[in-house]
Amino acid sequence: MSDVPSRVVLREVGPRDGLQNEPPVATADKVTLVEELATTGLLEIETVSYVHPRAIPQMADAAEVWAGVRQRPEITYSALVPNLVGAQRAISDGFTDIEVVVSASRTHNLRNIRRTPEESLDGIGEVVALAHDAGVRCQVIVATAFGCPYEGELPTDQVVAYAVRAVDLGADSVCFGDTTGMGSPPRVRRLVGSFRDARADAVLSLHLHDTRGTGMANLAAALELGVDRFDASVGGLGGCPYAPGASGNIATEEAVYLLEEYGVETGVDLDRLLEVAAIAQRLVGRELPSRVLTAGPRTRLSN
Ligand code: ZN
Repeated sequence: MSDVPSRVVLREVGPRDGLQNEPPVATADKVTLVEELATTGLLEIETVSYVHPRAIPQMADAAEVWAGVRQRPEITYSALVPNLVGAQRAISDGFTDIEVVVSASRTHNLRNIRRTPEESLDGIGEVVALAHDAGVRCQVIVATAFGCPYEGELPTDQVVAYAVRAVDLGADSVCFGDTTGMGSPPRVRRLVGSFRDARADAVLSLHLHDTRGTGMANLAAALELGVDRFDASVGGLGGCPYAPGASGNIATEEAVYLLEEYGVETGVDLDRLLEVAAIAQRLVGRELPSRVLTAGPRTRLSN
């Protein structure tokens, strides 16, 4: 318990990772979601993705969404980019923070973008250089870090090696993504521990999914190792692309709730966040999986 940080930064990924795995939502509704999230005390919002519309039609209006958002100075808005062209677009549209992805699974990376992870990392080196030339920060997300839908187990050393390469290429931070919700506390301890052994000073973040019900346990395990940056999605917005109907990202309200139990500061107003989760639920027209949204905070007692 001694390594539990006093403060955690939550990056809200609902507008991007969440909505990209939901049926299409109108541009104006996406803008509404981002602006509502900005009133909750969250300080980082992954806003859009500049992927090709053929790959992910839900993100085809990235530039329009971003142009529609009334930006607040205290908030860091970020964009996911697939490659150098996407990075150029995001930077010229004014993003100060971008993210690029490499999958730790060779098969997953090849199937998604027809490149080996090594080839992706070469490209990521160019993206990082472009970003830094423009004064923009770049995070590298190592996807399928806790297991792959095609390969199953991935050796920890292999996952860590890609993350280390990303740091050495100049990434401002590294994020391990549990793309398909295969993480568990022992795996979290193994991966975070091995990465810290290799690059103790690198800024590390975790992108956890709750596909198999281990999301909050994984967060707790990482927290007790001192990890102080997590991604989460309002309401648990977004599903798992490999398992239709399954839940995806951990819910931001559940993360805030658990962090408050630990006495960890998040800066987030949970009641306000729950209102926004209800809005998110209306926008996508389905019940979202967040249990704190369903049950309410512990202070909301029955009459
Ligand atoms: Zn996700």
